Amino acid sequence: MLRWWMAGAGAEELRLGRPKRCTIHLGILPLIVFALVFFGYGFGSHRSQELGDSEAVTRMVYAQPKVLTPSRKDVLVLTPWLAPIIWEGTFNIDILNEQFRLQNTTVGLTVFAIKKYVVFLKLFLETAEQQFMVGHKVIYYVFTDCPADVPQVPLGAGRKLVVLTVRNYTRWQDVSMHRMEMISRFSEQRFLHEVDYLVCADVDMKFSDHVGVEILSALFGTLHPGFYSSSREAFTYERRPESQAYIPWDEGDFYYMGAFFGGSVVEVYHLTKACHQAIVQDMANGIEAVWHDESHLNKYLLHHKPTKVLSPEYMWDQQLLGWPSIMKKLRYVAVPKNHQAIRN
Ligand code: UDP
Ligand code: MN
Repeated sequence: MLRWWMAGAGAEELRLGRPKRCTIHLGILPLIVFALVFFGYGFGSHRSQELGDSEAVTRMVYAQPKVLTPSRKDVLVLTPWLAPIIWEGTFNIDILNEQFRLQNTTVGLTVFAIKKYVVFLKLFLETAEQQFMVGHKVIYYVFTDCPADVPQVPLGAGRKLVVLTVRNYTRWQDVSMHRMEMISRFSEQRFLHEVDYLVCADVDMKFSDHVGVEILSALFGTLHPGFYSSSREAFTYERRPESQAYIPWDEGDFYYMGAFFGGSVVEVYHLTKACHQAIVQDMANGIEAVWHDESHLNKYLLHHKPTKVLSPEYMWDQQLLGWPSIMKKLRYVAVPKNHQAIRN
């Protein structure tokens, strides 16, 4: 920093052609030099911290990316707006872990366990401990109406659980939709100050393989496992123009699942706030979108393109869909449930 400053001063002198006469008494010169060195150092080291100190990067040895060898030939790995679609084989987790560790990233995982759905929490949390963001800082945010029923699950270092007590609703559709309201409200109140990214997940699921920082980006959605090979006319978007979630037949990129999305806290705040407002507007107009919060999520992501898209590896139902060969890993999978019994 100081050396750069002095070189600049020298260049200035050269351009002007004649050095400026120094009129300061020579006795205070050592003082000036000391002050410049002192503040120069302070400023310099602060800036290098902000920019990410390059000296902290360690040497890494890994397979070279090959320009003429595509990582996957059987699936789309990039959207037309150049967002990566995350499939096994397309990323090197060691490189990504290094990048996100250098940022000291903290990830918030929001999950709702209202009424009978608390029974899913134990397996959800236990498997998250094994597979979710291992080696990074994690805060589980468990939204529930029955805090006493939240199970005690042993957590690894750098991981903690926060119970957020919220009200319940009679209809499961209302429980599902009000997640948007709660996530936006708590993002503003505390998530913004506590974590860098938010991952918003259904609780009737378990982690069965690695889910790590490869999913993190400003805004991400997950391909619904039932529609990844469908054409847009087959997507179960809301088709009534009266709803705020309306998407015409000739529009749409993908059908995203409401059960797994996320991004930076500020982006998730914008998404959940917009979806909640659309839900409230629909209610005022006496209409409810066909797939509730998922319909509104799809509308939002059509007009705010995600910066990463997660493949159905990140949202699978083996009972319903088996295990096709393009799925190299099943990472986050449905736990079989009796819909009627659990929702009433
Ligand atoms: N949920 C809840 N209690 C309920 C209904 C829903 O906690 O009574 C939450 C829970 O996190 C659940 C999510 O809302 O995973 C979405 O509901 P559900 O999983 O039943 O929807 P599906 O995945 O079957 O469409
Ligand atoms: Mn679910």
